[in-house]
Amino acid sequence: MPLTLYDTLSARKRTFEPLKPGHVGIYVCGVTVYDYVHIGHARSATVFDVMVRHLRESGFIVTYVRNITDIDDKIIKRALESGEETAQVAERFIEAFRQDMRVLNLLPADIEPKVSEHLQEIYQLISELIEKGYAYQAEGDVYFSVSRFPGYGKLSHRSLVSLATGASGRLNDAELERKRDPVDFALWKGAKPGELGWDSPWGRGRPGWHIECSAMSMRYLGETFDIHGGGLDLVFPHHENEIAQSEAATGKPFANFWVHNGFVEVAKQKMSKSLGNFFTARECYRFFEPEALRYFALTVHYRAPLNLDWVVDEAGRVTGFPSIEEAERRVEYIYNTQLRLKAVSPKRIREDAVEIPEEIALFPERLAAALDDDLNLPVALAVTHEFLKQVNELSEPAGKRKIAIARKAVEAAENGFLVLGRVLGLGYDDPSRFLSRVRERRAKARGITPEQIEKAIDERIAARKKRDFIQADAIRSRLAENGIELMDGPEGTTWHIP
Ligand SMILES: [Zn+2]
Repeated sequence: MPLTLYDTLSARKRTFEPLKPGHVGIYVCGVTVYDYVHIGHARSATVFDVMVRHLRESGFIVTYVRNITDIDDKIIKRALESGEETAQVAERFIEAFRQDMRVLNLLPADIEPKVSEHLQEIYQLISELIEKGYAYQAEGDVYFSVSRFPGYGKLSHRSLVSLATGASGRLNDAELERKRDPVDFALWKGAKPGELGWDSPWGRGRPGWHIECSAMSMRYLGETFDIHGGGLDLVFPHHENEIAQSEAATGKPFANFWVHNGFVEVAKQKMSKSLGNFFTARECYRFFEPEALRYFALTVHYRAPLNLDWVVDEAGRVTGFPSIEEAERRVEYIYNTQLRLKAVSPKRIREDAVEIPEEIALFPERLAAALDDDLNLPVALAVTHEFLKQVNELSEPAGKRKIAIARKAVEAAENGFLVLGRVLGLGYDDPSRFLSRVRERRAKARGITPEQIEKAIDERIAARKKRDFIQADAIRSRLAENGIELMDGPEGTTWHIP
């Protein structure tokens, strides 16, 4: 099945064909490095990570470019507050960003261009736009003349008239005076005395935000490339302006596909720094494993809103994130299933048996088919669940299910876990380590240490040896009251907190 993707520009699903056979160039707008990654960023990054992984799994050679905005008013403001140089603030948060990405098992981009290292490309693009009559200088600023570009509004499906009425209300008088038209946008902003700036052909200043993505995407992927991605909030004005700048300069189509992910929402409002309703990813990891956040990001279609909920105690302190904790139980299921498969007794595995449940045999194909359909993540997770369910059934300990298992079925299941790790980036940790981290954290949240639980288990074993079943049951009930479940197996008693 060929890959189809919803393209914002043509407002429909289209079959994806790379411009250069076998190669895919993808550019995703990255972060402005003045703070830590929040849950909204984590979702967006996970969506495009799965897209890149799926393209690679389908056999494409992918060049994944994600920019880093390291010149921005917010970074300058942050530097003034902390008394650092802006470059120091940027470096610090670039390092934090990379760490946050690694923790979520997000593949690094192949190229991570920074604005501060691409000023020459920006100067060249702006010069070209001035030469061709698409941009003009005004007292140290340079503006793009929107009315000169006939296709303006085609991505966000807005008319120039509606844009004009919206634009004038948002500007201060000085800016309005410099612009020929309120809808025009800045390519270069002149620096006031004492402000941070770079020397350009138009005097000291800094680039407008939009121009960096046109300059850097075309620098690494060419004037026309395959996929441009980002959050839905970037459609207008950011991506609309990128199209205007790029296509005005080259006369060629800019990106072949425009792919946008939905927001993380809190009570139907977008999670954002400006609304103050955001959580950084790292501050939440005391409530769940990073992999749970990754799984959570995959639970709805990438274009749909993802609803985040949390609970607070009487003092208003956050005490948990129910939906992400639910996602964590799904991740636990992946690891428990891996362990169960590993524990299958070799005596039950038969070379000559041929039966492989189709949920296991066809899992890689079904996963690929789900993702080929406009990256249908809920279906991908449903197919994964069917796969896990069958592996569990296959691995049922002898006694409950004595039938022999085909060697080929075990191999297909092992391969399925590798595919799951490569494509969805799930189940990549060591199962025992993951599971013990989770249960220790949950025990701690209940004010119990793992040592206390182990001690209770030992006491229960001793009681049972003495045939004091009343005492043994009392210990089990006491643990159960604290949400701790005991599981008696051939290798002793283990504990678990669901
Ligand atoms: Zn961008």
